[in-house]
This record gives sequence, C-alpha cells and structure tokens, in this order.
Amino acid sequence: MDYAVIADAYEKIEATTKRLEMTDLLVDLLKKTPKNVIAKVVYLTQGKLYPDFVGLEIGVAEKLAIKALAKASGRKDIELLQLLSTIGDIGEVAEEVMKKKKQTTFGAQKTLKMLEVYETLDRMANKTGSGAVGSKMAFLAGLLSYASPKEAKFILRTVTGNLRLGIADMTVLDALAIAYGGGKEARELIERAYNISSDLGRVANVVAEKGLAGIKKFQVVVFEPIRPMLAERLSSPEEILEKLGGKCVAEYKYDGERVQAHKKGNEVVLYSRRMESISDQYPDAVELVRNNVNAEEAILEAECVAVDVETGELLPFQELMHRRRKYGVKEAMEQYPVSLFMFDALYVDGKDLTLDAYPLRRTLLEKAVKENDRVKAAKQRKTSSVKELEEFFEEAIEDGCEGLICKSVGADSVYQAGARGWMWIKYKRDYKSEMTDTVDLVVVGAFHGRGKRAGAYGALLLAAYNKEADTFETVTKLGTGFTDDDLKKLPELLREHVVPRKPSRVQSTLAADVWFEPNVVLEVLGAEITLSPIHLCALNSIRKGSGLAIRFPRFTGKYRTDKAAEDATTSAEVVEMYRNQLKQIGAA
Ligand code: ATP
Repeated sequence: MDYAVIADAYEKIEATTKRLEMTDLLVDLLKKTPKNVIAKVVYLTQGKLYPDFVGLEIGVAEKLAIKALAKASGRKDIELLQLLSTIGDIGEVAEEVMKKKKQTTFGAQKTLKMLEVYETLDRMANKTGSGAVGSKMAFLAGLLSYASPKEAKFILRTVTGNLRLGIADMTVLDALAIAYGGGKEARELIERAYNISSDLGRVANVVAEKGLAGIKKFQVVVFEPIRPMLAERLSSPEEILEKLGGKCVAEYKYDGERVQAHKKGNEVVLYSRRMESISDQYPDAVELVRNNVNAEEAILEAECVAVDVETGELLPFQELMHRRRKYGVKEAMEQYPVSLFMFDALYVDGKDLTLDAYPLRRTLLEKAVKENDRVKAAKQRKTSSVKELEEFFEEAIEDGCEGLICKSVGADSVYQAGARGWMWIKYKRDYKSEMTDTVDLVVVGAFHGRGKRAGAYGALLLAAYNKEADTFETVTKLGTGFTDDDLKKLPELLREHVVPRKPSRVQSTLAADVWFEPNVVLEVLGAEITLSPIHLCALNSIRKGSGLAIRFPRFTGKYRTDKAAEDATTSAEVVEMYRNQLKQIGAA
C-alpha cells in the first residue's frame, strides 16, 4: 500500500467537519487497505502506532523535526524556524519547502510505502537512551527525502503529535461496520469488541479478516484493558430502589483512583480509568495484587485509596496526587500508602465474566482475593429498604467515602463495558443538596485575564461532551475557585493543547482568545443549570433555540487527570440534571 493513498485520504478528511462525510472517507480508505495491515492504518489515522494502553509515543520534538526537514530539503534550520513562526504548523512548512525542493531536483523518486513509514516511525518510537536523538533524526530525514510534499506534511504532523484529523474512536467503529460488517447495524457488536479490548487495531483486523463471525467470538484478553463500566446518578434512595427493581446491593463508593488490575502469573499491570498503565505510580498496589490474588490469571477492578499511615483512615482522592510523579515514588509510597478495595471480577482463569450477572462476579471476586489489611472486597449491603440504604449511605460518608454505588443484582446485571448505564447508580452527598452538583467539564478555550490576572487566563471556556455527535458543547465560563497555584499551573497544563483555531469538534458561539484541543478535564461545582441563549450544550433539547448553561461555576480543585475528554459529563447528563433540578424546585 502506498503511503500516498493514506495522505490523500487525510487531506480529504481534514477538509470536512461533517462526521458522516468523514466516516465515508474512512470507509473508502479502509476498503482500499490490505486486510493484513488494516490495524496499522487504523492506528496511523489516529496519529498513533499502537493502542493507547501500550503507552508508546512517537514523541519527536518540533526542533528535531525541523532538523530532519532541513536535512531532507537542503534548507537551513533557522530559515525553517522562521517559516514555522509565521505559518504556525510544521506540516504546512514541510509541504511548502518540499514543493520548492521538487522543482529543483531531478531523477527517479521512490514511492513511499505505508509499511515503510509505519516501521520507521516504530523504530523511532523505540529508540531511547544516548544517541536516540541522532538516530531519530536520521530515520526521519531518510523518510522525508523520499516523501512528496503532501506526504511530508502528514508525516511531520504525525511524528510531532499534531495530526489531529478529529477521527474519534466511534467514527472508526462506524466505518468498520460499514466497510466490513455489512452495514451500520453491525456497529453494536463491533463496539462491544472494542469495549472489551480497547484496541481498535485488533478489532479492525478481526472484522476485516473474519467478518462478524470473528467479532462474535471476540474475547477478553489479559493485558488488554476493558473499557470501564460507569454509573448513572440519582438523588434519592427511593428513586434508586425503584429503578433497580426494588432491591440492590449497595457498595461504598470509595474516593480514590479506579484501577483495573491485570495479572498473569507474577506479572501484574494496573490500568487507569483512561486505560493507561499506572503500575509505576503504585508499585505497592502491584505487589498487593501479586500476593493477594489467588488466580493464576485475572482481571479485577478496584478503587485504589490513600490511607493515613498513622490512623489507617481513608484519605480523599486529592492525596493520591502525591503519587503522580516520575521520581521519588518510593518515598511517596511510604508517606502515602494505598489500600485496594476490589469491586469487580471481569476475567478469572480463562473465563470471560463480562456477560455474567453481578452476584456471580462478586462471588468469584471474593474467591479470587485473599483479604488482608490493605486488600479488601468493597464493603456492601444487600437491601430493599430505603431506610437501610439511607443508613448505609451515612455510614459510608462517616468512613471517608463519597457515598454509595447501588448495583443491580438482576439476571441481566452484566458488566457493561464502556457504558454509563442504570445497572450502577451512584448516590453522592452533593446530589442531596438542592442545586449543587459537581460536573467534570472539558477546557476548550480561555480568555485573557485583566488586572490582577493580567498575563494569566482570566476565565476558561468549558464544555460538556455530546456523545451522539462526538462534539464538545460549551456550557459555562469558569473564573472562580482558582488558587494562585492553579493560575500558574493552568497555562502550563494547557500549553500543549493550544490550537490556532476552534477545533472542529468544539461547538461554541463564544469566541475564545485561545482555543484548546479538548483534553483537560476539571471538576466544577455549579449552583444551578439554566436555559441559555449563548451556550450550546444540549441545544434545542429543552427549548428550541436554547442551550443549557451552568451558573456560578466554581473549580473544586480537582484536576480530573484520570478522565479523557470523552469521559467528561455529557450533554445528556446535563439535561437530566436540569430536569432533576426542576423536580426538586417543584417539590420544595
Ligand atoms: P465521579 O465523577 O462521581 O467520581 P466518575 O465519572 O469518575 O465518577 P462514575 O461512573 O460516575 O465515574 O462513578 C463510578 C466510579 O466510582 C468508578 O469509576 C470508581 O472509580 C468509583 N468507585 C468507588 N467505589 C466503587 C465501587 N464499590 N464500585 C464501583 N465503582 C466504585
């Protein structure tokens, strides 16, 4: 397969903002792709070489990319840097200089193959240690010297992490269903395969090679993280019990970090809620899983919670921030030890449990875990009484938890990988107070500060995620709740996500001073949700022409680094919260 086929497709995809058109273009590309390399092409279209959980990034700094381009084009670094500062996009710089080069060179050109590009990038990604920079540069310059201007543009954007075609996972799944599943109806089955593997490449490969029959046999595999099941929310025990058919098992909602522990023999990997390996942050938790899980092979879920060394009490989520570091993990581990509260079993010794009912999963979980001071199964109570639920909730709060997660015990209580459903319903303290509720919103823009905040950001433009349209719809402007430290930290955190114009997935009527690729998620406490003529969250869903806005938002101090932009509060949830709020006002 020629890389030019891919570059052509990218160019067309880039030119559209419509998801359906984008899907069609992707279908074309996937059909043109030989089946045995389809996984690689899928990764490349998302600017990657592997699924995210592998954690291997191409990671070429702009400076290095410029050097390689200088070598391949015969220009001087400084000249290219100047061009970059006026054009602002390394891809366009490459296209321009390679065009000029083309006019001045003669002789036969080699056609660049997709596989050659992929393998060279892979070699670059794997180079570490001394001499890595030099060899990466040589590899890249080698590729560029054969590339057409258009190819050079996309290669450079890919290696510097700036490809950003806006092809979301869901778009790839749609395209696979159309190209190889016989039509869009196949999407649900294909999506399940993705949800239990987090590997779009493997899914693409199976559906292309074996069709839907292969997808139906798709199984959970140790060391491929399963996309997490999430909970809906309700604000009263009555509603919760009603929704769960009159009975449920209520569990403590521990306030820590979710981990999905994968174990095979002595090998253990912990994946975060975003399905990245976080084993390095929690060597103690790795050890706990190794020693306290009886099964040879297992995938278990747990909440990893910081505990007070002196009192053994549970500490809030924020304390885990101390563990989020590259160096000094050992010291942090002693100062801020963690406990594991196991709450699900998804795979044990060769058996995929994701389609089993929760009571069975819990029984197998208890069997697989050897409890001690630091490892326990989540505390739970089976109940059908509102009063008991209320009491258990108070007990959970008393014990340092956020509230309860009430789980269905019905025959259909399967593990809904990658979905937020009504099998799990969370009941947190904040939902009890009238119009206060925290939401996790994505930073999509910023406004420059004035006065005391001159030079920093004055306010951030935040969005909720519209899952159906795969867009980010603005819902509020956030300017309060920041400490001086936050004000310093935010621009640093956001810098790498700055883009020159409003990203195509962002829906906004406001013109921010700075736009960001949706990435950073912040927890926000709002006072009330109102209809809004400005914000586009859930536009037209309550009233024609109006969106929803969160009034008086305040940053709670929680950076939800454990969430990707697509895990933020959805527009549909904001609608639900708005409706609940009306109910509460009505009831008062
Ligand atoms: P929140 O923003 O409320 O913390 P979230 O959006 O991260 O929640 P939810 O699905 O809303 O995710 O809440 C479920 C989260 O609660 C899980 O991701 C998990 O980390 C945590 N949790 C704590 N205890 C349990 C438990 N016993 N069972 C399931 N999840 C639990």
